[in-house]
Amino acid sequence: MDYDLGAEAGSLRDRLRDLIRDNVPESYLGAFSDNPEDLEIAQRFCKVLAAEHLLTLAWPEEFGGAGASVWDQTVVREEMWAHYEPRGAQYMGLNWVGPAIMRHGTPEQKAKYLPPIAAGEVIWCQGFSEPDAGSDLASLRTRAVPDGDGWRLNGQKVWTSYALMADHCVVAARTGAPDSRHAGITLFLVPMDRAGLTAVPIPSQLGPHHLNELFLDDVRVEPGEAILPVNGGWKVMRDALAYERVGIARYARCDRLLTETRAALGADFDSAPPALLARYARAAVHARTARLLSYKTIAAQAAGEIVDSDAAAARVAVTRCDQEVGGVLMELIGSDAFDGRDQAGAPLHGGIEDHYRYSQAATVAAGTLEMQLTLVARAALEAR
Ligand SMILES: Cc1cc2nc3c(=O)[nH]c(=O)nc-3n(C[C@H](O)[C@H](O)[C@H](O)COP(=O)(O)OP(=O)(O)OC[C@H]3O[C@@H](n4cnc5c(N)ncnc54)[C@H](O)[C@@H]3O)c2cc1C
Repeated sequence: MDYDLGAEAGSLRDRLRDLIRDNVPESYLGAFSDNPEDLEIAQRFCKVLAAEHLLTLAWPEEFGGAGASVWDQTVVREEMWAHYEPRGAQYMGLNWVGPAIMRHGTPEQKAKYLPPIAAGEVIWCQGFSEPDAGSDLASLRTRAVPDGDGWRLNGQKVWTSYALMADHCVVAARTGAPDSRHAGITLFLVPMDRAGLTAVPIPSQLGPHHLNELFLDDVRVEPGEAILPVNGGWKVMRDALAYERVGIARYARCDRLLTETRAALGADFDSAPPALLARYARAAVHARTARLLSYKTIAAQAAGEIVDSDAAAARVAVTRCDQEVGGVLMELIGSDAFDGRDQAGAPLHGGIEDHYRYSQAATVAAGTLEMQLTLVARAALEAR
């Protein structure tokens, strides 16, 4: 397998690295924390990317994109994730909300929602999971009932990433009978400042504001805010989750951290215990495997389709690799890994500890490891 995506991809990569170097401090560790400075950096950087037509590079020109290939988009994702995602929470709108509206939205919805995403101006969040509906999303109970020409929403969501920073939420609600499962769900595009919608942070090891509960108390939804057809939300959610699963190039961060840690340790790396060096080598191989499986899914996407089970296989590989790399590098660096990013001389500005902590959640977010393995197993059994 040739990992080189070609000369044009190489110059795009160089251009992105230059922009990151000029606009994002080396100590930046993502905009998902409680650090308001990081959120500002991410918001500013999205506008820089948008001005360079790089934010929605692979979107069609009519929707504010540059019509580039999904492989170019892959280079963007790799460079962003490798550098602690300087697009911040906007990646959610870019990776799947925008594409879902492009695919399933009305002409009015496309005209209203896509330009602000392409301009780097809005943050979207995802209101799918509920206290009793995570892996089994089809059992969700947030209810939408007709209200004149629109709808009223009542219910509760949980684990909603970035809800406090977000401008809009894609809320999945039941519009069919209570037992209609997959066949009775509709998605609604709800502004976060709508009366009756309340976000409450859940403190966690991901920082005090990353995860949230979302309470919907008689929230009015306008007629143009439902993704049609009514009761057709499951298909959109499945696509969204598949896009989400391939949208984060975790292997690129793994590769970068492996290389940079080795360089930072210098001679100490060579004198590390052989068993630890063997784990390092295995982790490097697994980062390559994860890249390969991701590229398989991207090749399918380039041909106009996403195969759920391939996206799931890639997700299993990238999230496991994320945890493996975090574990090996924490051991190599030792207790210095806990030096905070503002502490002088902190190895990689505290990036290893940050990576380790976040990677623990990776095998739960966007569907747990067990659910991804189930998708892979089901596809394998069906193919027999
Ligand atoms: C960092 C992070 C960010 C998130 N962001 C969002 C977000 O923005 N929006 C959103 O809607 N959700 C979000 N989630 C929620 C996430 O999608 C759910 O946590 C996930 O789908 C699992 O659901 P659950 O937590 O209800 O666990 P459960 O579904 O209750 O699962 C508990 C355990 O049982 C296992 N299990 C359940 N069913 C089966 C089965 N049939 N076979 C085998 N094992 C099974 C699971 O694998 C898991 O180990 C986020 C989660 C995390 C960790």
